[in-house]
Amino acid sequence: MPITDVFASNVFDEAKMKEYLAKDTFQEMEKTIREGKPLNPKIAEAVAHGMKEWALSKGATHFTHWFQPLTGVTAEKHDSFLNPSKDHSISLEFSGKELVKGEPDASSFPSGGLRATFEARGYTAWDPTSFVFIKNGVLCIPTAFYSYTGHALDKKTPLLRSMDAINTQALRILHLFGHDDVKTVRTTVGPEQEYFLIDLEDYKQRKDLLYTGRTLFGAPCPKGQELEDHYFGTIKTRVQSFMQELNSELWKLGVYAKTEHNEVAPAQFELAPVFSTTNIATDHNQLTMELIQRIAKRHGMVALLHEKPFEYINGSGKHNNWSLSTDTGMNLLEPGDTPYENAQFLLFLSAVIKAVDEHQDLLRLSVATAGNDHRLGANEAPPAIISMFLGDELTDVLKAIETDQPYGQKKQERMRVGIDILPKIKKDATDRNRTSPFAFTGNKFEFRMPGSNSSIAGCNIMLNTAVADVLEGFADTLEKADNFEDMLHTLIQTTIKEHKRIIFNGNGYDDSWIGEAESRGLLNLPTTPDALPYSIKPENIELFERQHVLNKEEVYSRYEITMEEYTKIVLIEARTMVGMARKDILPAVSKYTQSLADTLALKKQTGVSATYEKANLDEISSYLDKAYVALKDLEAKVKTLEETEDFEKAANYVRDAILPAMSTLRKPCDKLETLVSAEVWPFPTYGKLLFGI
Ligand code: ADP
Ligand code: MG
Repeated sequence: MPITDVFASNVFDEAKMKEYLAKDTFQEMEKTIREGKPLNPKIAEAVAHGMKEWALSKGATHFTHWFQPLTGVTAEKHDSFLNPSKDHSISLEFSGKELVKGEPDASSFPSGGLRATFEARGYTAWDPTSFVFIKNGVLCIPTAFYSYTGHALDKKTPLLRSMDAINTQALRILHLFGHDDVKTVRTTVGPEQEYFLIDLEDYKQRKDLLYTGRTLFGAPCPKGQELEDHYFGTIKTRVQSFMQELNSELWKLGVYAKTEHNEVAPAQFELAPVFSTTNIATDHNQLTMELIQRIAKRHGMVALLHEKPFEYINGSGKHNNWSLSTDTGMNLLEPGDTPYENAQFLLFLSAVIKAVDEHQDLLRLSVATAGNDHRLGANEAPPAIISMFLGDELTDVLKAIETDQPYGQKKQERMRVGIDILPKIKKDATDRNRTSPFAFTGNKFEFRMPGSNSSIAGCNIMLNTAVADVLEGFADTLEKADNFEDMLHTLIQTTIKEHKRIIFNGNGYDDSWIGEAESRGLLNLPTTPDALPYSIKPENIELFERQHVLNKEEVYSRYEITMEEYTKIVLIEARTMVGMARKDILPAVSKYTQSLADTLALKKQTGVSATYEKANLDEISSYLDKAYVALKDLEAKVKTLEETEDFEKAANYVRDAILPAMSTLRKPCDKLETLVSAEVWPFPTYGKLLFGI
């Protein structure tokens, strides 16, 4: 089937709505979608009916409200369309009420105390801007999830609120620039998704991968990524057929899967979609992660979405390409052709600069997870310090504005916003720096810190809220100005002056950057428990409340949930390590030393030289003892952690005691892997895992 027929064939999109809904219902729906208006309850019944007819024609039997609780994965509870009738026959039904609102028993989702257990009800409400789709014979309705008291229990509600906030403020600015025709401003996102593929049989033999998604032991194999022969290399047949199926399944769901290639590390791959509106991009990224995993299994492989599945080689991220665009087709981060367009571009650019500088903490903490801590700051991913890359050209322009100096050929006059033309910023002039966490890439920003496993809702909530708040301040100032142009120039100039410290075009992987960043007063928050407490700072709570994105209780509950999640994840890892060391590694090695000792004794008896056995036995035994000591220590620390009730104390203990103890245990065990005979080692090695597919 041609792609054009496959694409969105499982989505109730505008084309299907046109076919299945009456004309006036369709027009109402269109307005709802285009302008982000709430659904008119009067048409819910008719929409539900059309939807059901379409779903039945596609063979669907069930429906579900599809939502994104704070666990980071999507949740669904299927109900069938079946309805018993009086005469023992059945009818197939789906009401407007069922479409608009759901009431899952939600007591097992994390709520951070927002939903007392006696009031376990949670509600889901349809987000009509994200299309309904069919997945595995189930009609999925993308919804927001909130408590009886109206508190957000998911990632989507604050995301939608943050999009509203930025819409309101950006519109005010655009109206000042005379764009009265613009009705909505939406943030757009194109998330590039990295992942690893390994063989299913190898995976099953590793408890660490099974329980934690990453390897907790493993000596480096002789070949890593040093030859750079995997990056963009020919894709192997098995992977190719997986990608083909993945693409076609994603296309059916209306996901614009566009680019696929091998990544830097062996067995690492990337998928990039064409960008879309942030909430849709978020839904689609969740679906992409789900499908990558499901389809890999069909090809005898397992997809690892963990940020750092393997030591010694690159981890996986999710580059969040972000911009703002209007319903009239303007990209607000695209430098324009006229001085006036450029002035508008520079204003939005300044807003992002100020937002990123003022809210480094929020951006940093939005990507803080146990998994991502292994990646950020390592020599492969952006450092844990937030800075922005603008490229030399744009930085020079800003400098000229800041210092009232001429720019480029114009030797005499000062650079004036709204009068002078900007140089054409070439895309490749801006896209070279791969070490920056937040890079301007010609007409969008690329936030490179998010981890491969996280929902992109988190970082976009922060980004949207921070930029909305700055735009609000800008709009307040500009609306009051007697002379708009003068005020615009001053505003941009002061913003650059006050926030230029965040701009860094150098090498973010360089160690000297850490010292320099510190002298600039930039935040360096290396770990999750360092970063998360910033979310509950009074000024941040005020910001979230001011922009109506999260209230105080919601912020606190999220803080508690994310801190606890960090602890739980590492606790599972620590227990898994203990189990593997105790039950697999140490007994296997001990048994091997027995065979060495037997041979040694035999050789001694017969008077044959036994240098190899003796030396080997010594070395292995000494690492075995080290491993045992480390194991006992980790076991004791796990016990202490299990007894720690306070969630903040627990998270700090994980960072300060558990993780170091885990790495102390890993070292002798990895060494042992290199010392014993290959057949003794109880699970597949890095070489097998990384080069096995
Ligand atoms: P690369 O980073 O590999 O050079 P591109 O710059 O073409 O590739 O795009 C990377 C991602 O950025 C893609 O997912 C693309 O759809 C997305 N993107 C492009 N333009 C925008 C935009 N205006 N807003 C958000 N994302 C965008
Ligand atoms: Mg990119």
